[in-house]
Amino acid sequence: MRPHRAKRLSRFRHPVRLMFFASDNASGASPKVLAALVAANGGAATPYGADDYTAGAEAALSQLFERDCAVFLVTTGTAANALALASLCPPWGAVFCHRDAHVMDDECGAPEFFTAGAKLVALRGQRGKLPAAGLEGALRNYPRGVIKQVQPGALTITQATESGTLYSLAEIRALADLAHAAGVGVHMDGARFANALAALGASPAEMSWKAGVDVLSFGASKNGTLFCEAVVFFDKAMAADFAYRRKRGGHTLSKGRYLGAQMLAYLDNGHWLDLARHANAMARRLADGLAAAGARIPLGCEANEVFAIVPRVAEAALKAAGARYYDWGARGMEGVDRVAGDEIQLRLVASFQTTSEEVDRFVEIARLAAA
Ligand SMILES: *Cc1c(COP(=O)(O)O)cnc(C)c1O
Repeated sequence: MRPHRAKRLSRFRHPVRLMFFASDNASGASPKVLAALVAANGGAATPYGADDYTAGAEAALSQLFERDCAVFLVTTGTAANALALASLCPPWGAVFCHRDAHVMDDECGAPEFFTAGAKLVALRGQRGKLPAAGLEGALRNYPRGVIKQVQPGALTITQATESGTLYSLAEIRALADLAHAAGVGVHMDGARFANALAALGASPAEMSWKAGVDVLSFGASKNGTLFCEAVVFFDKAMAADFAYRRKRGGHTLSKGRYLGAQMLAYLDNGHWLDLARHANAMARRLADGLAAAGARIPLGCEANEVFAIVPRVAEAALKAAGARYYDWGARGMEGVDRVAGDEIQLRLVASFQTTSEEVDRFVEIARLAAA
């Protein structure tokens, strides 16, 4: 074998890359979830999600949300979001979202595609959040009954947001009330629902349907499943067509039991919240350490993400040490802070696999370089 190839392959012998803060989906699956997959691998099960594991996962989610929900398992968050929005919004509708939203920037037009052409209307808002006044203005700009304009169709909010911040329960309720008054359904992109919930200390019901959410993308892959997310409808009537949408979208797995088994293990005995609490604690440790080392953390640390503004010299040292993160430009800083020319804003995400050792090493490198 040529030496450079041997070197490249040797990386894969270390399953956990140290100081990998680029995203929480860089982590693997929780060992408990993987074990459940192996355990589900014996014998036969009815295909296409008509198996006992899937039924168990659907029941577990209804129990968790204290309501008889319609639950659909899919493999990606993009599918969950796009198919959920398609259930809420007609092709001639508007989907109101934050301008930094995942549906806006990171889903390759899937929401537009699966809604058969709905328009995403991107709204401004500091700290990654939609302000009620901004939604009110947008609803005024898209009145019902004007034939030349798309019609108000859906509101989608992200919890935790793309800026790592959280909507309070009251903020969710205020947005949902405005949407509902205009006949607009409310979707929550909960790719980091667990992290947000653990941080707020609310119940799953309180942070969703009790606050006015109609449909939730219940993310799990970033927090410990291999590939499994759930679309949860709190009003079963809204889910009437969803099974067809999911199949047509290629997300009805023939060996559906493996989705059910992942979700069951993930939810079992509060495992999902234990994982999220750990990720949040690691992010908190990172934020506190970096702040003590002189970095600015204008958005604070509300869940498992930290947006740190550090001197470029510190960033160079971190990069040289093999740390991984995203250069976040000036995103999310509008009206909050500014990133000077000799500075860089890093997006750092902690996961259930993050260790305090790698956090401390990262902080120490940043501290020494900036000193
Ligand atoms: C990761 C993420 C998703 C899901 O993305 P997929 O890569 O499609 O699984 C959705 N929304 C947000 C906010 C995310 O961070």
